[in-house]
Amino acid sequence: MKSHEVVVVGAGLAGLYAARGLHAAGIDVLVIEARERIGGRILTADGSGLPSEDGFDLGPSWYWPQMQPAMAELVSEAGLAAFAQNSEGDVVFERMSRERPQRYRPTAQEPQSMRISGGTAAGLRAIARELPPERVLLGRGATAMELTERGVRITIRGGEAAQQAIEAGHVIAALPPRLLEASVSFTPAQDSATAKRWRDTPTWMAPHAKFFAIYDQPFWRRAGLSGTAQSMVGPMVEIHDATTASGKAALFGFLGVAAQQRAEIGEEALKAACLAQLERLFGAAARHARATLLKDWAADPLTATRQDLVAAGHPVVRDGAWVTGPWRQRLSLAGSETSDSEPGYLSGAVTAARRAIADYLSQQVRTSE
Ligand SMILES: Cc1cc2nc3c(=O)[nH]c(=O)nc-3n(C[C@H](O)[C@H](O)[C@H](O)COP(=O)(O)OP(=O)(O)OC[C@H]3O[C@@H](n4cnc5c(N)ncnc54)[C@H](O)[C@@H]3O)c2cc1C
Repeated sequence: MKSHEVVVVGAGLAGLYAARGLHAAGIDVLVIEARERIGGRILTADGSGLPSEDGFDLGPSWYWPQMQPAMAELVSEAGLAAFAQNSEGDVVFERMSRERPQRYRPTAQEPQSMRISGGTAAGLRAIARELPPERVLLGRGATAMELTERGVRITIRGGEAAQQAIEAGHVIAALPPRLLEASVSFTPAQDSATAKRWRDTPTWMAPHAKFFAIYDQPFWRRAGLSGTAQSMVGPMVEIHDATTASGKAALFGFLGVAAQQRAEIGEEALKAACLAQLERLFGAAARHARATLLKDWAADPLTATRQDLVAAGHPVVRDGAWVTGPWRQRLSLAGSETSDSEPGYLSGAVTAARRAIADYLSQQVRTSE
């Protein structure tokens, strides 16, 4: 059985950030990732929905430098370019189906939402580049963890063998706590209060879906519109300009239809209803999208659990350890939702990972004394 000082479970922003930090500190670290791609909720995609180096953010698209210094630091450290979310022009408001949508001049956006040029995944790739490729195993999902005398035995699904095991001196679980509780079994079991805390922590944005319409030109800008719209009619409730820094034109919206209902309606009917809504809000040109994309995170089992369909919301910062009992010395949690600041956000993923690195390194110092 292969053995590593630290195994990080999950190659989202938190997992890669933690692994990069430990690798830089000379720790033998391996990342296992259940998906066939890195990024987790970060997904920058081309017009067919495949990961792209310059595309549309089907997951997170914004960060707020003043409120979230951790993300601002990441962007500046990696030497990435950023640009402001387009807000130039009028906003459209759709109040009810029997009224024509109204346009109005918005007040300046505060705080300014920023986007990373190339897409949010550019930030992720900058971190991944500092890890040797063999340190990240894709398509390997942890299904069980067992405490052993020397550390933790992790059962993994995927790879050449249907099931395999690796050993770690320490595990950093860099995935939403609710997903961890639902998908990984522990021997000995986690304390019931700890398991409940994980289960009760909502995974930020897991119940949501984003629709994109990709165009030849950002035609709405010529009409003096910013691309921002709010709707009480739906199916989208909030729409924004998603045009890339390189000029690929698009609009995106968050669906206001509940996850269960989306599943019943089906992707094609939802896309058609979203396009019809864009036509109502932005005019006939909106109908002629070159491509459309719908990413339903609630239907993605590597982000959402069944509980996210009914118990959504924002994770809140609470005192108390995320790991208790016999697991305390061998397991840390580092998903964004476990952060003490901005939990659920990109910057939360960075701060949670920083805490996991610091805790592990200080634990090593204590045991070597
Ligand atoms: C639609 C949407 C819009 C968002 N918008 C914003 C935004 O504008 N700004 C912002 O700051 N935040 C936003 N967020 C939140 C942001 O995406 C997250 O805070 C951040 O990406 C979380 O990173 P993470 O590494 O903690 O978790 P994740 O990205 O969820 O990564 C967890 C990783 O673990 C993997 N995994 C899961 N189970 C296993 C297993 N058993 N074994 C191995 N691997 C496993 C997953 O595949 C995944 O890669 C948005 C999220 C969504 C979905």
